Amino acid sequence: MDTGKLESPGPENLGAELHRLIAELFPICRSITGDGFRETLRRLGELVPLKVHEVPTGTRVFDWVVPREWNIRDAYVKDRTGRRVIDFGQSNLHVVNYSAPIRATLTRAELQEHLFTLPEHPEWIPYRTSYYNESWGFCLTHNQLLQMKDERYEVVIDSTLEDGHLTYGEVFLEGTSNEEVLITCHACHPSLCNDNLSGVAIAAYLARALRWTRHRFSYRILFIPGTIGSITWLALNEDKVPRIRHGLVLALLGDAGPFTYKRTRRGNAEIDRVAGYVLGGLPGENRVRDFTPYGYDERQFCSPGFNLPVGSLMRTPNGEYPEYHTSADDLDFVKPGQLAKSYAVCMSIVDVLENNRKYVNVNPKCEPQLGKRGLYRSSGGDAMPRESEMALLWVLNQSDGTTDLLDIAERSRLPFDAVRLAADALRESGLLETCEKH
Ligand code: ZN
Repeated sequence: MDTGKLESPGPENLGAELHRLIAELFPICRSITGDGFRETLRRLGELVPLKVHEVPTGTRVFDWVVPREWNIRDAYVKDRTGRRVIDFGQSNLHVVNYSAPIRATLTRAELQEHLFTLPEHPEWIPYRTSYYNESWGFCLTHNQLLQMKDERYEVVIDSTLEDGHLTYGEVFLEGTSNEEVLITCHACHPSLCNDNLSGVAIAAYLARALRWTRHRFSYRILFIPGTIGSITWLALNEDKVPRIRHGLVLALLGDAGPFTYKRTRRGNAEIDRVAGYVLGGLPGENRVRDFTPYGYDERQFCSPGFNLPVGSLMRTPNGEYPEYHTSADDLDFVKPGQLAKSYAVCMSIVDVLENNRKYVNVNPKCEPQLGKRGLYRSSGGDAMPRESEMALLWVLNQSDGTTDLLDIAERSRLPFDAVRLAADALRESGLLETCEKH
């Protein structure tokens, strides 16, 4: 079945829509478990057909255990006048994410051990977590800290760490084949935009677009808490793993940096070739990097027991820009135009994946006569054939069942679209047959 070229059905102002979704999700205090994650999925579920999964605390997932559920209502540090000098209500970054509850009056020195600032950026609040060792803390601007001169402070974190669930969201869009493309993003960070709401918004809009488009592959799009989410999904869905033909982890797609594609552990998977090809055709200093066992959920998908063809698409990678994991990763840091461009790159990758196939020339002994089939102009003698005619010749010559259309585009230096259109025309003329069943 011919899928044709995927259209990007988004409106002209798609960038603005992506930014609006990020702005809507921004205030929610998310974590790896809890109601903030659920509320995020509830809002995404208004856009796409999202199934919410709840995995009980204590469930064994390979070497890990699904942790307790964290929820928070309020948190503050009050000075002797009763004024909140640190207030969760002002920014959810003020509380170390996953902090255990506390109610105490502490000396400044006792409190100091639980305070985190960024002296090199004295106006920014850092983002810190304490997922897997129970503790508590506050993050604040360094300037705030310099003003805290009282001897004693009232400290309250009104949170709960209780048995509950790990929640994740899954969109499954069936294609004509049961082979799957896995697209994932982590959705466990509180009020931070590039990391992780840019990936969340783009994954949601990809799902929305693919929902209304005919596609060859089935698409499974996961909104998961980082690390424990992908480990949990893999542990509970090992039966689905063999169907994953390609995968992409989306993160950090709203900043102004060039694109970065991180290869799969295999290094030569089709997704690596496709992403490299798409990025190579874009202006700017875009980068393709080799796999490293650090970063996002590709670490789990590419662990040796799975070794899945899952790469990662970002703009500026984690830890390589100063605003990373700080309050400066805000709604101004991610721009609509940048988000729209990232979305378009994702759609281009999907489009090439969908249309990249291997064919067999059914008339391989000398060139078939194209003119009598209306595929080639009748008057000869031009110095060079047209691009479309060159594409026909390249596809016929290379299609021996071992070469896919992307190989042909790269070898011929013709655009992938020209090669794909040539293959379509040759197939319709009966000169080419697909090697695959779907
Ligand atoms: Zn992060």
